[in-house]
Amino acid sequence: MNLTPMMKQYTEIKKEYPDAILFFHLGDFYEMFLEDARKAAPVLEVTLTSRDAGKLGRIPMCGVPCHSAAGYIARLVNHGFKVAICEQLEDTANAKGLVKRGVTRVVTPGTFFEGLPQDQGRNNYIICVAPASAGSYGLAAADVGTGDFTATEFSGPGARERLYDEVFRLQPAEAVLPEGAKELAGLVKAAAPAAIGFYPETFFQAGRAAEALAGYRKEGDWPRAQMESALHCENADERGKGCSRESVSLFTEYGAAAAAAGALAAYLRETQKRDLAHMKAVSFYTPGGYMLLDAATRRNLELTRSLQDGGRRGTLLEVLDFTCTGMGGRRLRDWLEQPLLSPAAIERRLDAVAVLVEDQALREALRSGLKKVGDLERLAGRLAYGMANARDLLTLKDSLREAARLKEVLARHSTGKSGGDYRQGGNSGEPFHVEGQGNYSSLSAGCLLHEVRERFADLADVVSLIDGAIAPEPPAVLNEGGLIRDGYSAEVDRLRAVRRDGRGYIAGLEAKERERTGIKSLKVGYNRVFGYYIEVTKANLSLVPPDYQRRQTLAYAERFITPELKDYEEMVLGAEERLNALEYELFHAVREEVAGAIDRILRTARAAGEIDALQSLAMAAVRGNYTRPQVNDGGAIMIKDGRHPVVERFLGPGGFVPNDTALDGTARRVAIITGPNMAGKSTYMRQVALIVLMAQMGSFVPAAEAVIGVVDRILTRVGAGDNLTAGQSTFMVEMNECRTILSGATRNSLIVMDEVGRGTSTYDGMSIARAIIEYIATHIGAKTLFSTHYHELTDLDRLGGVFNLTVAVREDPAGIAFLYRVLPGKADKSYGIQVAELAGLPPQVLERAREILTELETRHSARSGAGQWATAVQLEMFPRPEEHPVIRKIAELEVESLAPLDALNLLAEYKAAVSGAKRRRRGKRGGR
Ligand code: ADP
Ligand code: MG
Repeated sequence: MNLTPMMKQYTEIKKEYPDAILFFHLGDFYEMFLEDARKAAPVLEVTLTSRDAGKLGRIPMCGVPCHSAAGYIARLVNHGFKVAICEQLEDTANAKGLVKRGVTRVVTPGTFFEGLPQDQGRNNYIICVAPASAGSYGLAAADVGTGDFTATEFSGPGARERLYDEVFRLQPAEAVLPEGAKELAGLVKAAAPAAIGFYPETFFQAGRAAEALAGYRKEGDWPRAQMESALHCENADERGKGCSRESVSLFTEYGAAAAAAGALAAYLRETQKRDLAHMKAVSFYTPGGYMLLDAATRRNLELTRSLQDGGRRGTLLEVLDFTCTGMGGRRLRDWLEQPLLSPAAIERRLDAVAVLVEDQALREALRSGLKKVGDLERLAGRLAYGMANARDLLTLKDSLREAARLKEVLARHSTGKSGGDYRQGGNSGEPFHVEGQGNYSSLSAGCLLHEVRERFADLADVVSLIDGAIAPEPPAVLNEGGLIRDGYSAEVDRLRAVRRDGRGYIAGLEAKERERTGIKSLKVGYNRVFGYYIEVTKANLSLVPPDYQRRQTLAYAERFITPELKDYEEMVLGAEERLNALEYELFHAVREEVAGAIDRILRTARAAGEIDALQSLAMAAVRGNYTRPQVNDGGAIMIKDGRHPVVERFLGPGGFVPNDTALDGTARRVAIITGPNMAGKSTYMRQVALIVLMAQMGSFVPAAEAVIGVVDRILTRVGAGDNLTAGQSTFMVEMNECRTILSGATRNSLIVMDEVGRGTSTYDGMSIARAIIEYIATHIGAKTLFSTHYHELTDLDRLGGVFNLTVAVREDPAGIAFLYRVLPGKADKSYGIQVAELAGLPPQVLERAREILTELETRHSARSGAGQWATAVQLEMFPRPEEHPVIRKIAELEVESLAPLDALNLLAEYKAAVSGAKRRRRGKRGGR
């Protein structure tokens, strides 16, 4: 026996999609067969049945109802499966023989935007990575829900690390890699919980990129020339932050980026199988245009995810996010994750934020408008996928109308008030206000707000189209009518009138028939099988007139029809059927027409998102009492009364003790910060990093005054004691991150190292910490904050550019109190026992600890014959850097090129050398 014709069709289609679960449309169900059914049934929690398939005998199958397919697809996709949707391509009623079927879309984890919460404040990315020769990588990322499409590349030393950092930033849902790129899969998996897919290597070639990119939107829609010009940055703001060149030709200059973008376009085309009209032109960015933030630093500074639970609570994003729209939320996150480097670009954003800080009326007007703007980017996505229902169109209409009002609000304010008002009004005490900015009028030409305003597209045609066509309260489904507004189509109106008349007649029938027959309990009803009927209870059957025809007998009653009722029924139902079909058709036409405006909608969405992000920063500034930083290329960081934006919120008003910071590229480069545990060292260092980052993203900052010389990178390392990330041994993690810092930092970087060396024994740790500080001070010259509980390290201030800070505590007989004041100078001791006392350790333990400490201190000072134990150890270990062989070796180390394992081995060797020497010396002493 042969395969049944349908199974033949099935296996042919399935052959094309071996790695996806095939949803085979059969009547009201999507059926899965064979292996697919076996894999999917347990995930979907549906019963596995079987079906006769000709020569294959009975084969396993399972199915899900079409109308609730979305939920099932979501489940499979969340389990990392792809789902190929195979539809019936013709009406079953008209088909001769087997219905034609074909796959209309392959849903993958990175393209299943329907499954996301609406207004989700972050993008859902699918990425492609294209490895190129000489260890460089192209990376492309797209969000099919919002239409974002970007590409970049990494080359030279550290390319892998930077790729990792960028993947970490994007947190893609899916990554598509060339077949066989196992190692790359490992890298991606380590950076993000992405589903990994492999795609033939041939798609990852720069040579094919142009073709793929031109083809992924409607054929011929996007010729190569246009494509290249699309690679210009969209606007000046973008130029300042994202692109190092005014225009780049992706194809010639950035082969790896082009290869990745090409592969991604081909993949999208193959899986989505539709014109992706809502996708924006690929925007190429060089991460060099942004401050570099490696994965560890993003984590440590808790920019968007807290260390505690990965949530938003306790993050910088939470403090700054006053956005009112989905696109504004994503924009703000972008800015936070990609701080700018160019002072001019930063100042442009700051100018706009300043206007919105000063002008409360403008800010409030924008905010209340924005709150009524839906997620236009996601709506555009739904439009492009033909998924928008009538309610979506209404949301779109209302949103576009509000967006147009936003534009008006911006326009009114640009002409209504003169710049002078802003300068004099309100916080004239702010030190860095618009002083010296010349003709600073609120929205004068050149101002970012003005420019964004110009980018709002005119969409009045779309608004009036939807307004005129779509009913005010349409149902969510499209096949039940009720979609089209009265007055839009004469035929719809006519059919509705017919239906209304029929219904009116039937509604009046009950009273009429009760009167005629004298049956008080007579009822007119409707059911799906029998249509309209007249119901008479058994007790009253004798009164039924002869023109009633029996249709149905129930236990307590009989149901009848009359020829007249049947006529009206036909009228109502016929009209309804035609109405539903006609409304559906009209709706489609309207949706198509609206989809033609996707480009304009997206442009408006972006503009609204930018306004939203700007007002959010302004709002945060007002709420947090922030000031405008001065941003320049000067290389110094001067902060007066700086605060930690997140901690101060937890402590409430007045609870946070502000502190100053003065770092520069010369005499005050490396600050060693000592002080007891819990004194506020970590908080202080992070606060400096966050203030710098906020300034460079264009935000006001929590300080009384701030002058920020832009930094090219912020690099942080948090000691193992504070580190909450699991996985590798903490000391190994610590050393890995140190290597990143020492190899990645430049003169213009800001380094924050918190208690480095804690993950190993005291001497090891202290040696490493010391060596690192020396290396930074003498080789790198980066601005550095280095906290340590090894107060022995404070003597490093003899190196040029190194100075000491300490966090003040007050000590009196009752114990110590934390003052949280950062002052010049060093801590003379660790206050460990005092902190233990604060923590409430039993008095006996504290007593004994004091005894031991005294004993240790006296023993050491006796042995070395001079001074403190601290100096003793230090002199013993570090006679003079150039004399001790281990120190010499450390100084000569090429830390950049050192593999972590080698570092550990060397460390062990140095340790052995040092402790061996000590033992020998001690031995000699003992023999004396
Ligand atoms: P350290 O790193 O020195 O051990 P932390 O920076 O972790 O100390 O600070 C410990 C706690 O002290 C913080 O959780 C915070 O509650 C409080 N704290 C830190 N800095 C300040 C400050 N400037 N003003 C008020 N409280 C602070
Ligand atoms: Mg700390």
